[in-house]
Amino acid sequence: MPADLERAAAIIAAGGLVGMPTETVYGLAANALDAQAVLRVFLAKGRPRFDPLIVHVADAEQAWSVAVPSARARALGRRFWPGPLSLVLPRHACVPDAVTSGLETVAVRCPAHPLARALIQRCGVPLAAPSANLFGRLSPTTAAAVREQLGERVELVLDGGPCQVGIESTVLRPDPQPLILRPGGVSREELIAELDEPVLIADRSARAASLPLISPGLLASHYAPRTPLMLKAIGEPWPEVGQAAILSWRGEDLPTAARRIEVLSPEGDLAQAATGLFAALRRLDACGAAVIVAECVPEHGLGVGINDRLQRAAGLG
Ligand code: AMP
Ligand code: MG
Repeated sequence: MPADLERAAAIIAAGGLVGMPTETVYGLAANALDAQAVLRVFLAKGRPRFDPLIVHVADAEQAWSVAVPSARARALGRRFWPGPLSLVLPRHACVPDAVTSGLETVAVRCPAHPLARALIQRCGVPLAAPSANLFGRLSPTTAAAVREQLGERVELVLDGGPCQVGIESTVLRPDPQPLILRPGGVSREELIAELDEPVLIADRSARAASLPLISPGLLASHYAPRTPLMLKAIGEPWPEVGQAAILSWRGEDLPTAARRIEVLSPEGDLAQAATGLFAALRRLDACGAAVIVAECVPEHGLGVGINDRLQRAAGLG
C-alpha cells in the first residue's frame, strides 16, 4: 500500500488523476492548485464546467489556506472534521477558477478516511475531488465501481475498501445563516446541536431555480441508475409492475413477484441504509428489470440525504 501511495502522489504531482477512497464515496482527485489538472477532472467525468469541485484538505489549517473561515466555520471544523461535512466559504486567490467554476466561494472538507488523509499529506497540496463517477451516474462506493465507470480515464485507483458513510458529504453554507445546500453524511440535527441555532435546508426546486448562483452542481439528474426508477412512500402499497427491481427500506411487506430485492436495513438503521445505498442501486440497475421501485426512508437524520439521492435518481428536481 505505501508503494501505491507513493505512485499516487507522483501522479498528482505530475498533474494526473487518482481514484481516492473517502468515507463518503470514492473521489477523483487532482491537485486543487493546478488549473490544468483540475480541467482533466471535468473532462474525465464529462462534468459540466459550471459544477464546482470540493477541495479536500488534511486538516483545518490547510482548509484556511484556501478558504476564509468565519467563527461558525471554525466551530464546525473543530466538531465535524475529519468527516462528511463540506463548508462553502469565501476563497483565497490561490484557488483556480476551474475549481470553483468562477464562484467567489470554495467548498472545503477534511475527509476521515486514513488513505485519503495520507494521500493529501503526501502530496502536500489540497486535492480537488468530485465523486469518481461519470457525470449524472451513481457515485462509486468501491474501488471496483470506480474502475467500472472511469476505466482508462484514471491512472490509479487507491483501494480503501467499501466506503463507510456511503452517501456524499453534507454541503453547508454557514454564513450569513447556516444553509444546507446538499443533505449528506452529517445530519441537520447534528448541525443544530453544535450551532444551537436554526439550520435551513435549501429547497431542491429553489436550488434548481437559483442555478448557477447558489450551488451549480445540485442538478436533478444526479445519482441516476440507467434503469428508470420510481419511488414509493413507507406504508404505501408496492405498485403492480411485475418483475420490478425492488429497493426496500426494512424488508417489510415485500411484493410477491420481483426480479430482485435489496433491503437497506432490516433493523431500520439509517446509517446502515446509507452505507449500502449506492451498491444496492448498482445491483438493481444490473439485474435486467425494466423498472426499479425504491421505497423512501424516514425523513430525519441521514434519511434526509438518502431520500434526496433517491428523488434525484428518480429524476425529480
Ligand atoms: P460532488 O463533487 O459531485 O460531490 O459535488 C460537489 C457539490 O458541492 C456540488 O453539488 C457543488 O454544486 C457543490 N459545491 C461545490 N463548490 C461549491 C460552491 N463554491 N458553492 C456552492 N456549492 C458548491
Ligand atoms: Mg457527484
